Amino acid sequence: MSQQFSVPAAAIATTPTGVQQLVPLCQASETVLWLSTALAQQLPLPLPGVTHQVYSNSLAQALTQAWPEYKGFIFCLATGAVVRLVAPLLKDKASDPAVVVLDEQSQFAISLCGGHQAGGDRLTQAVAAYTGATPILTGAANRLQMPGVDTWGLPFGWQRGSGNWTGVSAAIAAAKPIQIIQEAGSTLWQKTLPDPQRFQFGWPEHTALSQEISPEPAARVWISPLQRRFSDQALKAQWHPRVLWVGVGCERGTSQALIETAIAQVCQAHHLSTAAIAGIASIDLKADEVGLVQLSQERYWPLCCFTAAELGAMAVPTPSAVVEAAVGTPSVAEAAALLAARQHSTADNAVLRVSKQIVRQAEQPGAVTVAIAEAEREYLGRSGKLWLVGTGPGSLSQITPAAKGAIAGADVVIGYKLYVDLIQPLLHPSQIVEAMPITQERDRAERAIELAQWGLTVAVISSGDCGIYGMAGLVLELLQAQDLKDLAQQVQVFPGISALQAAAARVGAPLMHDFCAISLSDLLTPWLVIEQRLQAAAAADFVVALYNPKSQKRTKQIAQAQQIFLQHRSAATPVALVQSAYRDDESVTLTTLAEFLQHPIDMLTTVLIGNHSSQRYGPWIVTPRGYLS
Ligand code: SAH
Repeated sequence: MSQQFSVPAAAIATTPTGVQQLVPLCQASETVLWLSTALAQQLPLPLPGVTHQVYSNSLAQALTQAWPEYKGFIFCLATGAVVRLVAPLLKDKASDPAVVVLDEQSQFAISLCGGHQAGGDRLTQAVAAYTGATPILTGAANRLQMPGVDTWGLPFGWQRGSGNWTGVSAAIAAAKPIQIIQEAGSTLWQKTLPDPQRFQFGWPEHTALSQEISPEPAARVWISPLQRRFSDQALKAQWHPRVLWVGVGCERGTSQALIETAIAQVCQAHHLSTAAIAGIASIDLKADEVGLVQLSQERYWPLCCFTAAELGAMAVPTPSAVVEAAVGTPSVAEAAALLAARQHSTADNAVLRVSKQIVRQAEQPGAVTVAIAEAEREYLGRSGKLWLVGTGPGSLSQITPAAKGAIAGADVVIGYKLYVDLIQPLLHPSQIVEAMPITQERDRAERAIELAQWGLTVAVISSGDCGIYGMAGLVLELLQAQDLKDLAQQVQVFPGISALQAAAARVGAPLMHDFCAISLSDLLTPWLVIEQRLQAAAAADFVVALYNPKSQKRTKQIAQAQQIFLQHRSAATPVALVQSAYRDDESVTLTTLAEFLQHPIDMLTTVLIGNHSSQRYGPWIVTPRGYLS
């Protein structure tokens, strides 16, 4: 099963009851369960679907060891004990992991620290959704119903640069005028701002800000690959989207240190932040260059290599005949930087920011050539996920905990507006929510695929079950059509209670014997086919659930369906019309095959038609299975 939280987490309990609370969460999210030797002896290990780790020393010692390995810790322990355990390990909010505390009854999930920058609030919401606990979030961002300024770029892999983050956060919390200057990276994050008008989206300083902006901003945030220097007091901070691709050419045997120094020097000379580096690009001959490979691994910079022919085809400002004679292309650094940046840009929108610079250093062997190109789209540094989630018939109480966890854990939630509104309480302020009109299923699916391909975790929601006249099939079909095998590996489907189950539950047990679902919508299926299926189902005495029975424009089909069933079943056959099941405006009508058209039926109705033995019993319909005959 693929990971359900966006952070690698450890779960810690000290009693069997605590373990019981954490197991479903570990099963769904590959969170590792940490157990003491004594506790492990009391459990039937391995627990199905759970990865565990046993520690033989004290919990405090085990935690010290685990601390750097995980981005999140979920304790099923008393808050006091957790505070004492983690206190000696906490350093600062920029590097501390998220700490979540769950009580043994799973009543409350507390975001204890790392709520903001480490994603603890989101982890807490996912844990709460999964266990049924109430999430306790106490950060200011939560009160403001907007993500903290120091978390804006997290889903996009942006790096937090220097600045007075606390001061800027305080200015935002105090509703002071804030200016945001975005020179690179996606603007999707702006969708998470509940009130974007509060912010002044401005342009770089040289456009005479003070004359244009009124009132004068109290704080400024830059989103840029440029490295700006601020005094400590200034209310300024900067994010760095990873848009820079560093083209590197070097002599064989050049040390990692020299390559690293060369990149740092060139960045500094051009006021670029190394935090904005997406990766390194070079010629395929360098794919095994030890210094380059080590640097790429250490800094999590992917190394993209191109053939001499690919590089030679690029137009560059500084081609070299000497280089061409040596490796078969007149440019390595510039051409590779540009090619890599192009892969993350539309059309030709990649630009060379720094043309080739040669760096040597006394006492270090070799020489390094560095060029830097800027891509249009930032590199996220992780693989995206596509979660296809069924949100049940309407009420939040009818959504599975796994589906709730998926919704809480996704970076982006995409769905038809009505359904997005229904799950609003499960959403987190830092999530990007794309609510789209009903008819645009294909657009929704394509958008989800695009964002997941880029590296985001995307939840596509459908009402009921996502694989029953829902979005799951469409998304999978599109993945197949586009041959996106890697992304197809990252798909996870979360089932939901479908309308036929919800409707049946409201009227007893009509689906106790063989049944089928037929959609009367002929938008995607020819009416002839639907008619044949109605005939076959009616003749075979299936209980039938009719989906999409009638819309304002499409009114004849339900009458034709009635005629078909009357050919095979008695006029008194019980029929239930369940409208908006488990929603505020739910209505249930019990009627018969002969009379059901006299009642209101619309696109929010499911029509259940009994088989020859279905019976009414007070407010219920029951289809006997044969136990009593
Ligand atoms: N994926 C959904 C079905 C989508 S098709 C599911 O599994 O339930 C849309 C049709 O489902 C509607 O026209 C209606 O017939 C039925 N439907 C969806 N939600 C419903 C609800 N809350 N009450 C009754 N019928 C519902």
